[in-house]
Formats: sequence, structure tokens, C-alpha cells
Amino acid sequence: MKAEIFSIGTELLMGELTDTNGSWISAQLPALGIQMQWLSIIGDDLNMLAEAFQRGLQRSDIIFTTGGLGPTQDDLTREAVAKALGETPVVQQEVVDNLEKYFQGRGMVMPPRNIKQAHLIPSAQFILNPNGTAPGWWSEQNGKIIVNMPGPPGEMHPMWENQVAPRLRQIVNDEVTITRNIKTLGMSEAAVDEVISEFFGKENPYLGIYSKADGIHLRVIARAKDEASARNMIQPVEDAIVDRLGPYIWGYDDETPEESAGQALHEQGQTLATMESCTGGFLANSITDVAHSSSYYKGGVVAYTNQLKIASGVPAEIIEKHGASSAETAEAMAKAIREKLGADFGIGITGVAGPDSLEGKPAGQIYIAIAGPDEVKGFEMRVPPRRIVIKRRASNTALTELRKMITAMVGAKQA
Ligand code: AMP
Ligand code: MG
Repeated sequence: MKAEIFSIGTELLMGELTDTNGSWISAQLPALGIQMQWLSIIGDDLNMLAEAFQRGLQRSDIIFTTGGLGPTQDDLTREAVAKALGETPVVQQEVVDNLEKYFQGRGMVMPPRNIKQAHLIPSAQFILNPNGTAPGWWSEQNGKIIVNMPGPPGEMHPMWENQVAPRLRQIVNDEVTITRNIKTLGMSEAAVDEVISEFFGKENPYLGIYSKADGIHLRVIARAKDEASARNMIQPVEDAIVDRLGPYIWGYDDETPEESAGQALHEQGQTLATMESCTGGFLANSITDVAHSSSYYKGGVVAYTNQLKIASGVPAEIIEKHGASSAETAEAMAKAIREKLGADFGIGITGVAGPDSLEGKPAGQIYIAIAGPDEVKGFEMRVPPRRIVIKRRASNTALTELRKMITAMVGAKQA
């Protein structure tokens, strides 16, 4: 089944809004056996939209859209589908009643223009939207399908997962494509490549290698008649990768460094404290993006100045002797915050955020230390001197190395 996606909205064309819906839906299609062909961004213009639907129906089996289902005059997706299919929208009283109830439940009266959202054409059915006022449309004409969904991701994602994807699973019989993503850190791309070279160059399962901000990712992609068969094809390759790269692996699939480290801390019942300088709170922010991080994260200090580093327990002599950006200061930061907050692990990060060099060290030079119950580990790295890159890379490295350190400790205890 060949598909295309329209991300609809003039604000997308103006660069004011980034199209995340298009890539999100694209990522859902391979596992359903749907082949993605085109991704278009189209403004809120009735004629252009209707023309796009007509062209799309000629070259694709199914068109997914997001956006333009709101109550205002510039939301024209429904009208454009009606025009392309040559049908006239008619108001559906039971949907008007539901909308009125939705507004009453919020202590409001339904604005008259919301009636627009209760219209339907003969070829369409509503897709319920429990999270907003705009129901979706599922239209079928001459064996072709159009699925219109609301723009807000918080409404679109549950609609997709609960209603659209289950319906697609029933009608698509094509081969599915399953991807397993294995994330490593600490080996170069070339070294990883060499260790598992025999798996490269095959078509199914296909093995790809990608360098990312959080390390080297290995992606195994398999095509088969169903999900279970595809997973069976991936398994031996995954086993070999785990066997050969085990200590460098920190996560799988969509897992982030903060989730991976958080899970390890949670499982071991251990706690973490942080002291960061050049990352300016990015590390603490990432850690607290994870639900229930309060069960293992004791807190952190953004010790941007030497004054605050010293007040937080870093010996002044260390900074004087080795510099604020140094392996020794990072280690002292990790130890000091670990002790001050009585945590099992302390992370210290210091470095040169740039654009200028500091104390004779170049912009992009980073020092990380992790102080644990048994040892202190230090890491030095040099990254491109862009402030956001430095923050992200330093924070990711600290968290993935923490994860690896906990995994190694657990392994040593079991052995
Ligand atoms: P609309 O349904 O076109 O009125 O869009 C409502 C809201 O949904 C927009 O203001 C955005 O916040 C969000 N939205 C719409 N389209 C997209 C998209 N392609 N990617 C991400 N967010 C979107
Ligand atoms: Mg819009």
C-alpha cells in the first residue's frame, strides 16, 4: 500500500512551526507494511489543498493529513476533501450535541463556528477525538483512502494509536518492516564497524551504522510477512552485537541517555547528585525530563563561577593549580556534590563553552567525572564549539557513562 502525508497549515510554510507530525507518522508506517512515498507541506488554501488531494489520489492508495480541522475560517482541510471528492458536507446533529456537551463540561457555551467540525460527507466517517473538539475524518472512495487528523500532537498521537493504526492493521497485508536500534558509546565508528563487519552489506536483515550526538547507533532492519518473523530475523544479529559490544551498549530503540541512566539507578535503588558548569543546568534538566526521577535524583548545582564551585565543596587549591576547566576540578566537583547530598553517585562537568578559549584550553574541551561508591571515573572530550552541542554531548556522555558504570558494577557483583 502506497501512502503520502500532507502536513497542512500556512504557519508550517512560513517556518513558524516545524512539521513534527509528518516525521512522526512516517516512522509509524514501515511496521504497518505501508510504503511512504511523498511528504508535502501545504498551506491553508482551499484550491491548492483540493488539487493536492486529487493528485494524491491518483498516485497513492492512502493519504494521511494533519492540521486544518479547527473551527476557524482558515481551517479548510474538510472542505478541500469534499471538493476533491465532489461531495457536499452536511451537518450531523448528534455530533453537534456531543460538541455542546464537550463545551458544557468545561463550563462554556459552544461558539457557533464549531458547528463546522460536525460536518460530514457521504464517503467519510468520523474518527472520534476524546482529547479535543476536532474529530478526524476517514474517507473512502473508489478504493482510495483519506485519513484527516487534527494538528496538535497531543490529539493526533492517541487518535493514531487507538483508532487509525488498528484499522490499518486490518486492511494492510503487505510485508512489514521492523527496526531494532542498538545504541553504543565509547567506541569509534570505525572500531564498531570492524567488530561486526560480517553483518554489513546484506539486504535483509540490513545493518546500518549511524553516528549521533549520543554515540554510535546500530540499526537492524528486517522485512517479513509479519512482525514476529521480522523480529526472528533480527535476533541473531542483535545477539552477535550484544556479545561483541556489550560493555559499550547503553540503550535500545527510542531510549534516551536520561531514561537509560534513570532506569539503572532505579533498578539498583541508587541515587545521583550533579554539579555542572559549562552545561548550565542542561544535565539536571535532562535527568528531570524522566517521570519518577525524584526517586533517584537528589538534585544539582549549576556552579558556573569558581566562587560557587568552592562554596559547593570544591577545594580552592585544585581550581588554582589545575584551572576551572580541568580533569581534576571535574573530579573534585563530582566528589563534593556526592558527599554534600549523600548520594551514591556524583557527576561533575566542567569545560570551555566558547566561543573563546579559556586558561589555554580550546572551546569545546569538556571534562566529566563520575564519582561512585567504589571509584571515580574521568572522561575528556573535544566537541565542535557550539554551546548547545557542548551541552548536549557533555550531558549525554555523562549519563551514558553512568549507565555503563552501574551495569559493570552489577555484573562484577554477580560474577
Ligand atoms: P490546526 O489543526 O491546523 O489548527 O493546528 C493546530 C495546532 O497543531 C498548531 O497550532 C500546532 O501547534 C499543531 N500542529 C499542526 N500541524 C502540525 C505539524 N505538522 N507538526 C507539529 N505540530 C502541528
Ligand atoms: Mg491550522
